[in-house]
Amino acid sequence: MDDFKDLLAANATYAETFEDGGFDGIARAGVGIVTCMDSRIEPLAMLGLDLGDAKILRSPGGRVDHATLEALVIAVHLLGVERILVVGHTRCAMASSTTQELRDRIEASAGQDASWLTFSAITDQLESLADDVQKLRTHPLVPESVAVGGFIYDVDTGALAQRF
Ligand SMILES: [Zn+2]
Repeated sequence: MDDFKDLLAANATYAETFEDGGFDGIARAGVGIVTCMDSRIEPLAMLGLDLGDAKILRSPGGRVDHATLEALVIAVHLLGVERILVVGHTRCAMASSTTQELRDRIEASAGQDASWLTFSAITDQLESLADDVQKLRTHPLVPESVAVGGFIYDVDTGALAQRF
């Protein structure tokens, strides 16, 4: 039970001054963000947003997969999302390794076979980003009124640039 002690202590301090309770789950700024799980990315801060403003979907590489699509359909119809940013980033491990390299590293770490698990490495980051943006723009349950953009975030400068 001690594994999370430090984090729970930090949370107790956080909760002491917490004043953002009580609002609903609507994305107040109407923003949806799809991005990588990379720890160098702060999705809200990089867009000048705050708690409650956006729906954030993260995964290795920030791809628009089935679960992400499902979440975004819910987000645009039920949770107020009107603009979706798909955000890749520089120095992304998913875009600089092959699926085989990722698998080899996982197997070395785990000490066992990992061939049964899918690792979706990105072979061409911009092409994947364009595909994901297109997937959303043409999805039958994502209305045309929803703006979808593809971006690359630079983890070394903090700058976000729209590519699609
Ligand atoms: Zn990444």
